[in-house]
Amino acid sequence: MNLLVSKAHDILKTIFGFTSFRSGQETVIRHILDGHHTLAVMPTGGGKSLCYQVPGLVLDGTAIIISPLISLMKDQVDSLQANGVPATFINSTLSQTEQKDILEKIRHSTYKFVYVAPERFESFEFIQTINSIQLSFIAFDEAHCISQWGHDFRPSYRSIIENIKRLGTACPLVALTATATDRVIYDIQSLLNIRPEYVTNTGFHRDNLHFRVERGVKKSEFIKQYVSARSQDSGIIYAPTRKLTDQVYSWLMSNGFRAARYHAGMSEEERSTAQNLFLQDDVTIMVATNAFGMGINKSNVRYIIHYGIPMNIESYYQEAGRAGRDGEDSECILLFAANDVQLQKFLIEQSSLEVLKKEQEYEKLHAMVQYGYTNQCLQRYILDYFSDPNQLKRCGTCSNCLKSGELEDVTKEAQMVLSCVKRMGERFGVSMTAKVLKGSSSQKIREFGFEKLSTYGLLSHYREADIGTFIQQLIADGYLDVENGKYPTIKLSNRALPVLKGEEKVWHHARVQEVKKNENYNEDLFAYLRGLRKKLADQSGIPPYIVFSDATLKDFCRMMPLTKEQMLQVKGVGERKWEEYGEYFINGIQAFIDQYGSDES
Ligand code: ADP
Ligand code: MG
Repeated sequence: MNLLVSKAHDILKTIFGFTSFRSGQETVIRHILDGHHTLAVMPTGGGKSLCYQVPGLVLDGTAIIISPLISLMKDQVDSLQANGVPATFINSTLSQTEQKDILEKIRHSTYKFVYVAPERFESFEFIQTINSIQLSFIAFDEAHCISQWGHDFRPSYRSIIENIKRLGTACPLVALTATATDRVIYDIQSLLNIRPEYVTNTGFHRDNLHFRVERGVKKSEFIKQYVSARSQDSGIIYAPTRKLTDQVYSWLMSNGFRAARYHAGMSEEERSTAQNLFLQDDVTIMVATNAFGMGINKSNVRYIIHYGIPMNIESYYQEAGRAGRDGEDSECILLFAANDVQLQKFLIEQSSLEVLKKEQEYEKLHAMVQYGYTNQCLQRYILDYFSDPNQLKRCGTCSNCLKSGELEDVTKEAQMVLSCVKRMGERFGVSMTAKVLKGSSSQKIREFGFEKLSTYGLLSHYREADIGTFIQQLIADGYLDVENGKYPTIKLSNRALPVLKGEEKVWHHARVQEVKKNENYNEDLFAYLRGLRKKLADQSGIPPYIVFSDATLKDFCRMMPLTKEQMLQVKGVGERKWEEYGEYFINGIQAFIDQYGSDES
């Protein structure tokens, strides 16, 4: 092994306390160590920070990290400092004197990492300063901000490039993002001059996230049961509007749950108070609109519940993806009700988008709705949406994969639906088709003369809503195609013919099993150590997950380390963390064993 790479492994162990690199990390690190401009595309929680933090420690000089958000910078600097790494940030929250002081220290090469906002490159003094020292590399975190095709384009990100080119140095540029669309990747590559062989794309798959769709449940009851069973776990409940956020929040509070709330209608101060309560583990439940989350690196979010469907799969995966950054099992639950779709349609309709853009939004919404109905593996559905090349067929842990093996033959009913669609001229939507199959006597039906169709009333023994759901499933499974627009219409796809001819059977899952958790750690000890972690975090003024992640605490519970050697075996414990917190946790674990005994005894 090359010397630098072996040094990288040492640093992984001694500074960060991890035993092995995750998928893609080592490749990215090698490219940086070899001095190439490098791009890493990895999902949220994939471990992008480590991709530049490790080489930053291997190489001589200071690394400059460009980051779009003040909260992200602070979080990263806190984490590095907690591991004993000299790091700082410069941004507008600091006074002029503090900034001067930091620039002076940068000149003396005090820091291994300096986090800055892109605007900093407009400061002559800053440019002069970094020009006078040795730089290991310049990294663009959240690099999709550089691209107009990304979901969060920031012009200031792009204008830096000229300034960087004017720098005297030729240090490597490193870009990291979780946005993997081809356009964005291409844009980043060409702007930063990154050759294809130095692009590492690990895909979108997150195997610790368990996706679940709950259709037609009473939402408030579901949430009540769910959160009471998880009083120790942190989670976010996303609601589609401010009003619903307020309602869910008030409802939880009046039912005796402690929650925080966050949306753009609150004052800056209220929002930051709420955010801190959640980050510090003072409250475990955050009820919020999609305004909450960007810049939140809290690694121990155990569940994300969507109270209604979001606008599109992009938003859904980004929001759901805030669960389980620490790699521990986490749940992403969509509470789905068919009439929630109306709200999203209304929001698109009301928006100031151009006609063409609106059509695109309807199409994206449609894919989101199908997620609520599909019988396919949910993780696979999402990967397909993003054209992810991952070979995974089924994740085995989503609510569809967990449905009991029993499959129902619904070919006859499917044939009825398909021929009804055909007879209606393939010009109507789901609800009209359901009405015809139900045998509804509504005015509209008679206007079109549908009561004379041979398929009229064929499914009259089902509820109209269930017929609608069934039709949606046939769409999701590809037997019907949708012509999108404000009033989507359905028509037969090429999969329909074999079914109508009786050559192909249609199967649906029968019942849902409860998701089973298979986590063998002592939960009482976990609760105890969480308390200890919270106390230490409050003393040091950092969030608890920066002291130790949930993953580390759970390993403490499994391995019950009582010596320094044992403790350093646990992932997430490096030299510095051992010095700072090791004794406290050993004493805590010992006290717990004295009181309750260890599991083995
Ligand atoms: P991203 O920026 O890709 O969303 P982060 O860099 O914030 O992800 O990392 C997410 C979590 O994964 C952090 O808690 C980090 O400590 C952990 N992590 C990163 N790399 C490893 C590794 N090799 N082994 C164990 N945990 C890791
Ligand atoms: Mg990151």
